[in-house]
Amino acid sequence: MYDFLASRPASMASVLTPGGGFRFQSDGCELLYLLEFCHTLPRRSTDPENRYPGCSLLPFEQLAEELVRFLTPPPRVTRTRDAIQFDWQGEKGAVVLIAPEEIQTRIPRIEWLAAYDSRRTSRLDSAMKVTEALSEEGFQEIFKRIRNSARKRLSLYRTCRFCGELFPPEYGDSRGVCDMCVEKHLGFIY
Ligand SMILES: [Zn+2]
Repeated sequence: MYDFLASRPASMASVLTPGGGFRFQSDGCELLYLLEFCHTLPRRSTDPENRYPGCSLLPFEQLAEELVRFLTPPPRVTRTRDAIQFDWQGEKGAVVLIAPEEIQTRIPRIEWLAAYDSRRTSRLDSAMKVTEALSEEGFQEIFKRIRNSARKRLSLYRTCRFCGELFPPEYGDSRGVCDMCVEKHLGFIY
């Protein structure tokens, strides 16, 4: 009859009364038990640092959870309170930014702030409401958009005419030579 009590930690056990019934200890143990339960839920892949645990998901968290299950290879996930960011396929891929109201697909880029000071950023490529993206049609569309943003980024890469390596548009020179080869074959040093 009281089997379920045995499965709880001893410190949270209920107290059997002489009449055969039981009462919970009045020290907040039941609440603690519920909190413990929520904290011991498996970590979500969209909250790698487990900073926002909970038994239920907000709509944008639900969308992120669904997306991460289907994206191959898995994206690198960064979570803040109001946003989940996916970096998919690195610099040659796409950035997906999921906020409570809107999901954006973005194109990674490198911005030069000074001669030797560059920063990784991204620019907006497409946006959709989270409620729309949670529909079956919207979900398919988001996948298309993520792939499309990644394709756009990759199309900006150039092939070095000396070493044959792909290099990003922010590097190399206008003649289609990567930085390494500019230095090696053309004698310039950046
Ligand atoms: Zn090269």
